[in-house]
Amino acid sequence: MTTPFERRTRRAQSRLRALGADALALSPGRDLYYLSGVDAERSDRLTLLVVPADGDPTFVVPGLEAGPVRAATWVDDVRTWADETGPDPVLDPLLDTLSPSRVLLADRMWAAVAHSLRERLPEASFGLASEVLAPLRRRKDDAELDALRAAAGAADATMEDVRALGVDAVGRTEADLAAFVEDRLAAHGGTGVAFDTIVAAGPNGADPHHASGDREIRPGDPVVLDFGTRVDGYVSDQTRTVVFDGDPPAAFEDVHRVVREAQAAGVDAVEPGASTGAVDRAARSVVEAAGYGDRFVHRTGHGVGLDVHESPDVVAGGDVELEPGMVFSVEPGVYLPDRFGVRIEDLVVVTESGAERLNRTDRGWRP
Ligand code: ZN
Ligand code: ZN
Ligand code: ZN
Repeated sequence: MTTPFERRTRRAQSRLRALGADALALSPGRDLYYLSGVDAERSDRLTLLVVPADGDPTFVVPGLEAGPVRAATWVDDVRTWADETGPDPVLDPLLDTLSPSRVLLADRMWAAVAHSLRERLPEASFGLASEVLAPLRRRKDDAELDALRAAAGAADATMEDVRALGVDAVGRTEADLAAFVEDRLAAHGGTGVAFDTIVAAGPNGADPHHASGDREIRPGDPVVLDFGTRVDGYVSDQTRTVVFDGDPPAAFEDVHRVVREAQAAGVDAVEPGASTGAVDRAARSVVEAAGYGDRFVHRTGHGVGLDVHESPDVVAGGDVELEPGMVFSVEPGVYLPDRFGVRIEDLVVVTESGAERLNRTDRGWRP
């Protein structure tokens, strides 16, 4: 039976051939998992998946890790090496046989591994695996969409738990609330966090990637809550901005309304054939028209899948054409230094006719 991992590998091979490249060389990471099903740790011991343009892929793995690799993958050809010899006795003959003239390396491969491959193949030219894999990974299949929906559902349910704290959130520190979030994500079926949980209270919300700290949530604080978890390896990522108790600062209500409208406009612009740039424009123009254009300091969104930030970028001038199955965030924000920030983020799937929102919880600021 053909696994989804093998099907993806065969698609990657036909793209390799179309690009005139001879092989992919992947070290542990999401690309390697995407093609092989192996979720290996990066380490100083070399693990490499070599996918030639034609024929079957080969794993090169440390002997002590061969068992789990064989158990996880459809790839039959798993060659092992021992600490006493290092990988040369296995890797050199493999590269000799393939003698590739163009090799695409995993984008997030360690420089030490890339450097050693370049030294072993002095005649070859090199490129990045994303040339082949980013377009494949952008379009999710049904199993991937199910995992993304489940991860988003865990995040939505967690956001509802957070809102339910209401006035009880006041007096807690950001870090304490982040711990509560992570506990609830797990309770709702998530595995770990997709990225460091952001709880940014009051002026801290003006830093889009604030690290949750020991600031206590006070009455009237806008609190930016941005978190995600994983289900079957696939991530969620959503943001709400909530005032748990008391009156928010001047201009907050206006800014929140603008960001919410911008977020809705971005989602409304999602349809097959539209560009990523058009989605950015739709959201950004609402913020600009309200006079906050220079305070919307990041792209409108990013692709989501096995990685929290993957292709496509939803960015000004972006020219990726939207196709059904693509999943990305729409997350405009306005950041007023020393005052507060507002961000609202949902994940959307491009459908045949428009967009499906993966996050559906209340977008308002009252708990
Ligand atoms: Zn981010
Ligand atoms: Zn986020
Ligand atoms: Zn995001």
